[in-house]
Amino acid sequence: MRKRVRLPAHISEKEFADSVTGTFPLYVPEEVYKAQQYLFEAFEYLRKTINEPITILSAYRTPVHQLNLFLHGTTRTLHSAHIFGVALDLKPHYKSKLKARDFYHILIEGGYSDLRIGIESYGWSFMHIDSAFIIKELALPVIAERLPKEWHRGARW
Ligand SMILES: [Zn+2]
Repeated sequence: MRKRVRLPAHISEKEFADSVTGTFPLYVPEEVYKAQQYLFEAFEYLRKTINEPITILSAYRTPVHQLNLFLHGTTRTLHSAHIFGVALDLKPHYKSKLKARDFYHILIEGGYSDLRIGIESYGWSFMHIDSAFIIKELALPVIAERLPKEWHRGARW
């Protein structure tokens, strides 16, 4: 059973789509839909708490896009939660006084500590969040691979 993707108030189709090809995954399996809704809830909580725009660096990625990032050394993994559309890379708007570090603390304190959050390995410049744990039946073993060492600090996985 596939469901139509329902974006939250503050994420546009353009922001969610693959940044290279513009591909937007309109229908997704039900588990992915659930994982997205949880991720979007966390995003809207953050957006509402800070009450300012959030820059979305990356959301959905096609597997080919992910492969290219991997081949260019931009990412360490071929199997990212981004290819399922259950991950967001976020940073404060350029006019904001906030840091990605603030996003991290707001989400943890807001009760979203079960999200996978990566931040320190990106030099605290942006924050990756995903809800891949909700789709683990679907995504295993590709996403649930062990963390590389450099992810252990400042990552909640
Ligand atoms: Zn990411």
